[in-house]
Parts: sequence; structure tokens; C-alpha cells
Amino acid sequence: MSLAELTRFLDVIPDAVVVVTREKRVVSANARACEVFQYPPEGLINLSLETLLPDDVRERHNHHVEDYFSSPTMRPMGSGLSLNGRRRDGSLFPVDIMLNRVEMGGMPVAVAIIRDISQQKAREQKLRQESVTDELTTLLNRKQFNLDLSHQLGTLRRTGIGCALVTYDFDHFKSINDNHGHPTGDIVLREASRRILEQLRSGDRAYRVGGEEFALILPGTDLDDAAGIAERVRHTIATEAFYSGDTLIHATVSVGIAQLWPGDDSIGEIIRRADRALYRAKNRGRNQICSETDMDIA
Ligand code: GH3
Ligand code: MG
Ligand code: MG
Repeated sequence: MSLAELTRFLDVIPDAVVVVTREKRVVSANARACEVFQYPPEGLINLSLETLLPDDVRERHNHHVEDYFSSPTMRPMGSGLSLNGRRRDGSLFPVDIMLNRVEMGGMPVAVAIIRDISQQKAREQKLRQESVTDELTTLLNRKQFNLDLSHQLGTLRRTGIGCALVTYDFDHFKSINDNHGHPTGDIVLREASRRILEQLRSGDRAYRVGGEEFALILPGTDLDDAAGIAERVRHTIATEAFYSGDTLIHATVSVGIAQLWPGDDSIGEIIRRADRALYRAKNRGRNQICSETDMDIA
């Protein structure tokens, strides 16, 4: 097959196809390759393969090309490697690559079929995000809460830096639903979540861990500082009424605060301490904060 015939054949393939020599020169590229790398038709011919790679992998890739021509194997798509292509304007895009070596006119060449997987990656990222997001409030969900708290326990063991855990439970939320309807209760939960987010510093994270139960993980924060943030949240919920249309709704929360201590063996321990503190806040009359060291802060 002549190079011209090969190129015509490659042009009907919906993935990008690039044929390169051992010296890393592009000798053939189909129309789709020019499109995804944003070159004009024929614009890839004679370019160095390095031009199509991110700067930081070029050196490593040179070794791979040598190794590949020395002992070629067919590499299928879906190898799981995290690879990027580099467009003409320097921007990167995720790719999956199938590689094979063939002889062309007595010369060994590598044929790379390159698939732009930007959309697939974006879909995966969206699904990942959805799997850890609470639909009603858009806060992180309980699954992410458990993951993050475990991560904090690991950080504590490695670095000695712990975190504070703040748990909120709405007071008499059943009455809000009974008096105003469940959809209005949802509006309160959504608006309260927005107010919670406003109080956070960078690195702090907020979660909806149950129906009307929320949590904050505050990395590198002790009980006193956590109490300051928790109080701001309690205050904004208790003092600014919620609106559903013209209806005004007053709500309060009770709050428990605990801290990850060096002796903690599991995340269950800090969760239990925060829950006990929260329970005490409820028993002491609600709309207040209680920490695991049993000091009333508000
Ligand atoms: P307490 O002060 O003791 O916490 O009283 P409470 O009424 O808040 O506590 P309880 O656990 O008895 O009730 C929680 C209520 O929260 C009951 C449930 O219907 C409501 N709830 C849970 N999830 C949602 C939700 O997603 N939307 C709405 N509107 N209500 C919810
Ligand atoms: Mg509850
Ligand atoms: Mg409640």
C-alpha cells in the first residue's frame, strides 16, 4: 500500500491515527488526528512526535519509543494509563492510545490510534461528583463524610494534625414540616446549607449526614476555634428567619463539637463524642452548642 493509499484509508477511521518512525517523525496522520490536535490538514506530517506530548512527559516518552521499537507489543485501548495529548495551542486533553508496530516500505513504524476521551472523562467526573453530593442541598453526602473523616485520622497519625468535627441537628424539625409542609422544610434545609457554606474557611467541608443533620469537618482546628465557627452557623440560622414565599419560618439547631485525639482508633469514636455532645445540647434546651469537654459555649 502506498502512503497516499494508506492516508485515504486512515481518513475514514473515526479516531485519530498517527504513524511515526523510530526517529519520532510523523509520516502519516489522518484527518481526525489533525482535527483533535488542531492542526491544518497535512499539518502533522514531518512534525516530531514530541510536539504532540505534554512537556513534562517528553523525556520519559523518548525512552518508551526506543523500548517500543526494540521489543514491540500490541497495546490495546483501555490500558488504564492516564495519558494526555497536547494541542497546537499547548492545551492538553486526555487520550486513550492503542499502539502497534508494522513495516512500511521495509521501515518499522509505530501506528498509534488516539482517542480523545475528554467527554468520557467529564462524564466520569460528573458521576463521581454526583455519587458524593447530597441532591437536596448540594453539600457533600454521608459517604464522603466517612471518607474524609478516615482521611483525617490518617493525617493525624502521620503528622499529628487532627481536626474538629461539628454536628448539627435541627430542633423540632418535625413541627416545621407539620406546620408548613415538607416542601417548605426542604427550603429551610437548602437555605441553611447555603448559610453554613458561607461560614467555612478554605479547607473546611460541610456535609448533610442525615435528614436534618449536618456536619462540618474542620482540619487542623481545635475545640475553641471550632466553637467559634459553629456559633456563627448557629447564630445565622437562629436569628435570620427563612422564607417560603410570604411565609416566615423560624428555625434553630443544636450543635455538638468533638476533636480527633491522638489516641483515637476509629472515626466511630469522634462521631460518638460529637453525638453525645449534641444530645447534651438538646437536653439543655436546644439552640445551643455543647463540646465533648462538656462546656456550654452558647
Ligand atoms: P429534635 O429537636 O429532637 O431533633 O426534634 P426533631 O423533630 O427535629 O427530630 P426528629 O428526629 O423527631 O425528626 C426529624 C424530622 O426531620 C422528621 C423528618 O420528617 C424530617 N426530615 C428528615 N429529612 C427531611 C427532608 O429531607 N426534608 C424535610 N422537609 N424534612 C425532613
Ligand atoms: Mg435528627
Ligand atoms: Mg432534629
